[in-house]
Amino acid sequence: MKTIGILTSGGDAPGMNAAIRAVVRSAIYYGCKVYGINRGYKGLIEDDIQEMNLSSVGDIIHRGGTILKSSRCEEFKTEEGRKVAVKVLKKYGIDCLVVIGGDGSFNGASKLSELGFPAIGIPGTIDNDLAYTDYTIGYFTAIETVIDAIGKIRDTSSSHERVNIVEVMGRHCGDLALYSGLAGGAETIILPEHPESIETVCDRLETTKKRGKKHSIIVLAEGVGNAHEIGKQIAEKTGSDLRVTILGHVQRGGSPTAFDRILASRLGVRAVELLLEGKSARVVGLRDDKVIDMDIHEALAMKKDFDKYTYKMTKILSI
Ligand code: ADP
Repeated sequence: MKTIGILTSGGDAPGMNAAIRAVVRSAIYYGCKVYGINRGYKGLIEDDIQEMNLSSVGDIIHRGGTILKSSRCEEFKTEEGRKVAVKVLKKYGIDCLVVIGGDGSFNGASKLSELGFPAIGIPGTIDNDLAYTDYTIGYFTAIETVIDAIGKIRDTSSSHERVNIVEVMGRHCGDLALYSGLAGGAETIILPEHPESIETVCDRLETTKKRGKKHSIIVLAEGVGNAHEIGKQIAEKTGSDLRVTILGHVQRGGSPTAFDRILASRLGVRAVELLLEGKSARVVGLRDDKVIDMDIHEALAMKKDFDKYTYKMTKILSI
């Protein structure tokens, strides 16, 4: 019988609870013991651990956040820190670890596997910035949150004939901005992968103004730069009445969508099966609607392609 440890790390994302549930329930189904590690790698080093059973993950599939809590931990980035972590894992008889998180957390898992400790990564981040998987857990829920906000901002933008900039999360990755901008019908989308000059944005605003549309939504990915600064420049150049809304952490919360719950369930079960097959240093993901797994180092080395065609499409649709 294997003993599996599970933790959530880095930025939280809706659907992490559904993934925890899938890991715990499938591990117990396959006859394993499971320990939940609180507060990510920090809780691991600090020995903040408890055994999980079927009811510890009852009634959580629909809940945002993570019942195991999350954090960032500088100490885990050091070899000494990781050695302490391995000692703690051994103390509980934990044979292998499931890490739910983003690329930083995966880096931690890969370093742990280099110390000979088996680890598998499940992608949990609203940023969708991991190239090896089509989607990460939490991403679609965050899109829903953003388009809900865009809809509301559009109402007031239209009433007051204003230009509204909506800053969307995603760090260096523009996926959340691109697809929520598409779904929310944004007039302009500004992405780190395809930064537009202020002049181009202002020209577009002038063109739409000339054909009678006085309000406009600009979705700005956070990776582009300071939204207030960009907004000030646009307002000065066009003379528009402009407001900036930074959506912030609201995007990280909320009940996960059906897609995220299903994805989390599929990936959670597969992660446990991989550990039972004796695999280590792998990540699970989704490609062309198939659950896949691959080497964690290879996955981290992959560069994400920018979806130029969808970007062009948003231009066509906001003409
Ligand atoms: P995310 O997983 O959402 O990308 P972070 O980048 O903040 O979030 O990473 C989460 C945690 O993973 C860090 O606080 C740290 O404990 C661990 N981590 C990140 N990078 C490394 C690394 N290179 N080596 C070891 N651990 C790392």
